[in-house]
Amino acid sequence: MPERIKVIVNEDRCYLCGGCAGVCPTLAIEVHSSGWEFLQDKCISCRICISACPVGALSAESLEVSE
Ligand code: SF4
Ligand code: SF4
Repeated sequence: MPERIKVIVNEDRCYLCGGCAGVCPTLAIEVHSSGWEFLQDKCISCRICISACPVGALSAESLEVSE
């Protein structure tokens, strides 16, 4: 299992192009004209969105595994 992550957006960099939402295999990111939204329940921690952002606006925060 890969490390579970939360994806964080840097709102100063993000220009809401929708690229990250377009590459996310599980539709865990939604980009609206009003802002960027992350749906933790859908995210499979693949990090594709982080590499895909053209301006480096996304980063990962480790999620503590709770048993
Ligand atoms: S890490 Fe993967 S599943 Fe999670 S939001 Fe990014 S692209 Fe989607
Ligand atoms: S790809 Fe980057 S700039 Fe584009 S909407 Fe996603 S976070 Fe924002």
